[in-house]
Parts: sequence; C-alpha cells; structure tokens
Amino acid sequence: MEGYELVQTYEDADAVVVNTCGFIDSAVAESLDAIGEAMAENGKVIVTGCLGKRAEVIREAHPGVLSISGPQDYASVMEAVHAAVPPRHDPFVDLLPDYGLKLTPKHYAYLKISEGCNHGCSFCIIPSMRGKLASRPVDEVLREAERLVRGGVRELLVVSQDTSAYGADLRYEPREWRGKAYQTRMKALCEGLGELGVWSRLHYVYPYPHVDEVIPLMAEGKVLPYLDIPFQHAVPRVLKLMKRPGAVDRTLERIRNWRSMCPELTVRSTFIVGFPGETEAEFEELLDFLDEAQLDRVGAFAYSPVEGARANELPDPVPEEVKAERLARFMERQAGISAARLEAKVGTVQRCIVDAIDGELAIARSMADAPEIDGTVQIQNGWFAGLKPGDFVDVEIMGSDEHDLFGEVAFDEEAERPLRPGELPAVLV
Ligand code: SF4
Repeated sequence: MEGYELVQTYEDADAVVVNTCGFIDSAVAESLDAIGEAMAENGKVIVTGCLGKRAEVIREAHPGVLSISGPQDYASVMEAVHAAVPPRHDPFVDLLPDYGLKLTPKHYAYLKISEGCNHGCSFCIIPSMRGKLASRPVDEVLREAERLVRGGVRELLVVSQDTSAYGADLRYEPREWRGKAYQTRMKALCEGLGELGVWSRLHYVYPYPHVDEVIPLMAEGKVLPYLDIPFQHAVPRVLKLMKRPGAVDRTLERIRNWRSMCPELTVRSTFIVGFPGETEAEFEELLDFLDEAQLDRVGAFAYSPVEGARANELPDPVPEEVKAERLARFMERQAGISAARLEAKVGTVQRCIVDAIDGELAIARSMADAPEIDGTVQIQNGWFAGLKPGDFVDVEIMGSDEHDLFGEVAFDEEAERPLRPGELPAVLV
C-alpha cells in the first residue's frame, strides 16, 4: 500500500499508527495506555480515531506523538505517515491499488456504510462527536466492496454506528449496481453483498424490528449468520433510563424466532452493568436473561460516566465496588454459557478462514468469530495441510475452552491425509 508494508511488531515498524476510542472513560484510558506503549517501544507514533477529537487529552499524556487526527481522517493519517517515513519512489508500486488503502490484513476489510447516529442513548456522546446519521449510497458501498474483493479480500466487516438505520437519512434511495436496483437499506445491502461470494459480517446492528428481515438472508448464506447486536440491558425500566428505543420487552422472543429461522446464527452482544439506578433485583433479572438468551459472545462494561453524557445526571449512582462485583458476576455467568456453547461444537465440522500460520498451527476463525473481538479456531495440522492466510477450510472441531476451538483440517480417509483447501467443495469464492 503506497509502498508501505504492515508489520506485526514494534521492532519491525518504522512508525506506529494507534487507532483510539473515546467512547467511555475506560476506553480513553486503554487508548492512552496503547499510545504510551507504542511511544516506549517505538517512539514514532501517529494517533487517530475518536479520541483524536480531544487532542489536548492525548498531548497532555504523551506530548511526543507525531500527529493526532480524528475518526475517518485517512488523509491526515497518510500525511503523517509520509512525514514520518517518506515514501521511496518506485514507479512499479507508487500507484494505489484499485482496492484502495486498507489498515487490516489483506484477506479481511472493514466496510464503512455510514457515519453518525440519530439516537440519544443517555450514556453515549458519539452523536455529539460524530453528528447525525450520514449514509453512503448503496451503489457506492457495493462498488467499494467489489474493489476490495478484487484486491483479495475474503471477508467484509460491515461497520457503522448504527447498521440497522442504514439509509434512513437518504430515504432508502434506490441506486443501480450491476444493472439492478438496490435500495439504500440494510436488507438490500446484504442482498448485494451476497452476490460477491465472500464472507460479509454485520456489526453494530441495533435491535429494530426490521432486523428480522435479514435473518432469512443469513439462512441462505448471503451474509454470515452472525449478529453483533448491542442489547445493553434486559430490563425495560433500565433501558428506558438509557433512552434505548424500541420494543425492548420482546427481545427473548425475537432471539428464539431468529434461531428458528437460522439455527446456525451466532449472537454477540454488549451490556452495561451498574447503570445509575440499577437495583440488585434488576441486575438479577439481567443474569436470568443471560441464562434464557444463551448468547454466544458477550462483552460487558461497568457503567462509567462519560464527560458530557446525560446519564451523569441520573439519581442513585451504583457504588464502584457494587459495579465491580456485578461485572464479575455477570462475566462469570456468561463465561459458563459461552464455554458450553463452544463445547457443543466439538465433533462438528466448521468452515473457517485462516488468519495466520504460527509454527505448525494455523490460526483461523469460524463464521461465529469476528476478528479481534471473538475467539479463534486453532488448526493443529494447519501448516502440514499447506494452509495460508485468507484460505477457507473445513475444520473438524476436537476441543474447546472458554473462548477458542481446536481442531484439524478434515481428513481425506482415502488419500490418508488432510484435505487441502483446493479440494474442498467450492462453497465460497
Ligand atoms: S445507538 Fe446509542 S450507543 Fe449507539 S452510537 Fe447511537 S447514541 Fe451511541
């Protein structure tokens, strides 16, 4: 990419780009720690992302950073990269490839469909940082996806602040792509992505009623059977305090319904525990919800007030030690559920995508695992089977722990060796 190469260690890097988050105080602290680590290990540090909007916070903690830019400001990041590590002129590589600039490994890429959000969740300041929903027309998004696939991408990660609201600001305007009309809305986008023959994974899907419409597309294999859907809580009174709209009391029924339409569906969600006013009884109701919902992957935060958020004015804040204790109980309850759901996959065959080769192992992910946030599938005979990053492969699952699965490339009994990726049924690509 512009003659630069992405490397995995501080040692090998000529400069480090740190992507930050400024959403809640713990994310700010984590971002500042990451910058500090990069400063100590490498010294040439370029900071970007949400926290870049609060440059003074970064400058105060780390005055030596080379540059600070806000979210989506790729131009500033590249300008800073050019200044820190001037590009060598090479007429053969200086032209940008037609799939553009990508800050992820070659085989997966984030596909941004919109920016901003029209909600006003009381704990969140994203709308004030990023503004109202602004969607990209569907043909533009699909053309970018097409370019990425041509450039070698095998998995598209659809991101936004609110994927379900996609296109509402454009009144779901129909546009043409590959000679066919597609509306600028989530379902039509999924139909278009389904034409590309790669994995497409939906992130930040807000639980609106029309989410139900994309589940059949998951069952048909148009997009991955994976929903990253932040529920935040399960008790209607707390959700009301959070100013989360929608029919919050039907969540369990909806999850059951989704699973009956698409049994392979993986549901990932996030929750906030210790929100102001959350009683012990309400927290226990949340734990009961976890038992009932049997979600596959769950992230949780103890509520922490964000500067400028309306929730700070709510009465009855939960004391810090109670928050910490609830978070631990919540995570313990979910750990058992996640582990049991992974264990149930032992003995099955899962289609996976390979991320890396590590000695004899191939580190891969199944359809249920998004990069960075979910688990992995460690393929014990991955190197022997000749796998390389970006390959799709069917893996026989032989073991599991709380987060990850372990297995081997499905064995060809006749040839008495593992199947090679090229020999698998060409379901994808
Ligand atoms: S939906 Fe709520 S939590 Fe998500 S970005 Fe919008 S305001 Fe923030």
